Amino acid sequence: MSEESPQAIRAEALESILIEKGLLTAKAVDDVIALYSERVGPLNGARLVARAWVDPQFKKQLLTDATSIVESLGFEGGQVEKLVVVENTDKVHNAVVCTLCSCYPWAVLGLPPKWYKDPAYRSRIVMEPRQVLAEMGVGLGSNVEIQVWDSSAEIRYMVLPMRPPGTQNLKEEQLAELVTRDSMIGVEVLVGVEVPGEAS
Ligand code: FE
Repeated sequence: MSEESPQAIRAEALESILIEKGLLTAKAVDDVIALYSERVGPLNGARLVARAWVDPQFKKQLLTDATSIVESLGFEGGQVEKLVVVENTDKVHNAVVCTLCSCYPWAVLGLPPKWYKDPAYRSRIVMEPRQVLAEMGVGLGSNVEIQVWDSSAEIRYMVLPMRPPGTQNLKEEQLAELVTRDSMIGVEVLVGVEVPGEAS
């Protein structure tokens, strides 16, 4: 949303009125924005992914009972009362949608992207996933099976993307920085990093 969009202007006007009437403080608004952009955000999900890449035991637990892990880590943001993590491999690619509305695991991925709520994405990813993924930059071989997971009020999904090539020597924190929001929705495949001094 650009600064000048009608929605932004309306939101700003609404915020001013609520503050003026004493119904809201500017700090409360800043706190909510900071919560989702800094403390929640896709970084929580990225940390889970990076840890799963380096710790097989953690990965097993993440794939069998992500809900307990998220609970024990005390992630804020909600919408993960029942979280299921699905693993991408070279044989299966997973993608997440909410065909009904826009259910999304806020505590691990932050706020959903605009296109996630778009009726076109919600219907087409189910009808023609290979085509939609290709349009979003994920070209999959015909030997790769695609599984699309439909989120609901009860169950939210997150994708465990494949660890990109060339990252053997990276530490967990460095790996977490490579993990994008879209890769955890399943509409992006993480590319390898260039290893300095090695010609590709
Ligand atoms: Fe929904």
